Amino acid sequence: MRKFASLLLLLFFVAASLGRTPVFADSSTAIRLSVDATLAPQKILRVHLVIPAAPGPLTLFYPKWLQGLHAPIGPISNLAGLKISSNGQVLPWKRDSFDAYTFHLTVPSGAKQVEVSFDYLESGGPAGGTATDKLLDLNWYQVVLYPAGKPAAQIDVKSTLKLPSGWKFGTALPVESQSDAEIVFQTAALDRLLDSPLIAGEYYRVFDLTPPGETVHHEIDIVADSEVALSMSPEVQKGLTNVVAESRKLFGARHYRSYHFLLTLSDHTGHFGVEHHESNDSRLGERALLSSGASSDVGGLLAHEFAHSWSGKFRRPKDLTTPDFQAPLQTELLWVYEGNTSYLGDLLAARSGMWTADDYHRSLAGMAASLGPGRPGRTWRPLVDTAAAVPATFAGGPGAGGWGSWRRGSDYYEEGELLWLEAATIIHEQSHGQKSLEDFFHIFYGGANNGPEIKPYTFDELVQMLNQVVKYDWAGFWNSRLTSTSPDAPKGGIEASGWTLSFTSEPPLPGRASRRISDTTFTIGLEVGRDGHISDAIYGGPAFRAGLAPGMKIAAVNGRAFTPEILNDAINASKGNSRPIELLAIVDDYYKTFSIDYHDGERNPHLVRIAEKPDYLEELLKPEAR
Ligand SMILES: [Zn+2]
Repeated sequence: MRKFASLLLLLFFVAASLGRTPVFADSSTAIRLSVDATLAPQKILRVHLVIPAAPGPLTLFYPKWLQGLHAPIGPISNLAGLKISSNGQVLPWKRDSFDAYTFHLTVPSGAKQVEVSFDYLESGGPAGGTATDKLLDLNWYQVVLYPAGKPAAQIDVKSTLKLPSGWKFGTALPVESQSDAEIVFQTAALDRLLDSPLIAGEYYRVFDLTPPGETVHHEIDIVADSEVALSMSPEVQKGLTNVVAESRKLFGARHYRSYHFLLTLSDHTGHFGVEHHESNDSRLGERALLSSGASSDVGGLLAHEFAHSWSGKFRRPKDLTTPDFQAPLQTELLWVYEGNTSYLGDLLAARSGMWTADDYHRSLAGMAASLGPGRPGRTWRPLVDTAAAVPATFAGGPGAGGWGSWRRGSDYYEEGELLWLEAATIIHEQSHGQKSLEDFFHIFYGGANNGPEIKPYTFDELVQMLNQVVKYDWAGFWNSRLTSTSPDAPKGGIEASGWTLSFTSEPPLPGRASRRISDTTFTIGLEVGRDGHISDAIYGGPAFRAGLAPGMKIAAVNGRAFTPEILNDAINASKGNSRPIELLAIVDDYYKTFSIDYHDGERNPHLVRIAEKPDYLEELLKPEAR
């Protein structure tokens, strides 16, 4: 059903390019959606919808399952003041007894449409939306109700948007016209609309990222809480342009009309990225572009989200390809959707020069180390289960509530990446260097650019395509890795690439991997904030055995008031020392002392070369487009 919409878009483009009459979506039957965002600084969006309807029962849906977040967390609790009317007559509505995202009403005889109005009250978070005094991140799923009965690809929506005076905007959604008062967007199918977020703000800049010779337009649109935060260095702009150039080589094709990196820079939003077919909605701290680590931070995030246009958007697991936003998503294949994207994104970040080879090695080391041994969740919960359970477990965030190493989080990202690296080394070895995983990417992600098209796949089809590159027991390989309850992370790919994981006292360099993993998780087994708050403890680790738990707060280390540095000093001094590390902690208002039996000093994960094996990572990270 979704392919139908893609076909319409394809027809439009073919017709337009041949100079014939284009096939336009029928705007007379389209839902008219007006969003007034002039109150965005007060975190209120005013929504008005005109929905074509026939007399009789009508069911309206608020989008529930969010594709990029893989969970039923449409922000329904932010909808307030819902009023539905027809021909000036107020229509009573009733929420469904079993599903809070469903509204029932009766359309009176003679009516041809209903009018719906409500306020959307911004609440932050990945699904809730963000507005600050200076900017707005708008996801259309926040501000729409749609009628039951048709796939989202067959529901046309004509949208208009009012912004605070002087604000500018960026989006992949094609604009029909715009004035100071209002932006009018081209009519779009509901699924395309909801896949096309918009960022707007008082401080806005756009940079072209189209590499020389590239026919498809790429740009980055940036909104920020200050003018100075928009100052992207020529180095970062060049790096992102390289990412785009490298993607042409890596995938061999594109599947979008144009591509917009939508970047929000604010200390008042969550910091994450969400993928879309023709854009990504990525959010970092206000000064992210001004920091010395800008290339590595921005490159790592944006390359990942960009790779999703192929992995997850163009090629999507069949079980994640649903006709609308109410049908449940089955997430078992997220080790491809997210794991393969992690592999691709990190490769693009390194090939573009936004990451150094060291950044890449450090990221791999951090991933392997954080997966085990010593992280016991994998002994009861196989990788495939971390993917399958995500609709119920992701909303609170990996490890929310603590003991994340025992629960396991969304390991299909990191472990998926290690497994795809292992697949790359298998192809390299089996073909004696004649083939590479990139040959698979060209088969899987290649083909003509028909605009934002979706080609679903199953596990069996994936295996069959890998076999087209190199004959191997791919089903056996994936099944054994996906169902393993070994205490060890799968490091086969790292080792076959000529590297091994090693812990040394050498500190990790500043960057993505080092910030994700606190030093003390690899030593005493605690994740500690700067104020001493214990956000997590490794189940079974030294601090766990001493009686410590998430939620406690460290007050003193060996008799001295806590600072992270003093804790580090105590860990350093523990090497070869038989005295335990003594922590005084606040536990539900009581002060308690804990003795941690730990004597290994500082430990940080690093990749170290295996001298007798060739360095396959060096080959993988070589730029192809320059
Ligand atoms: Zn992702």
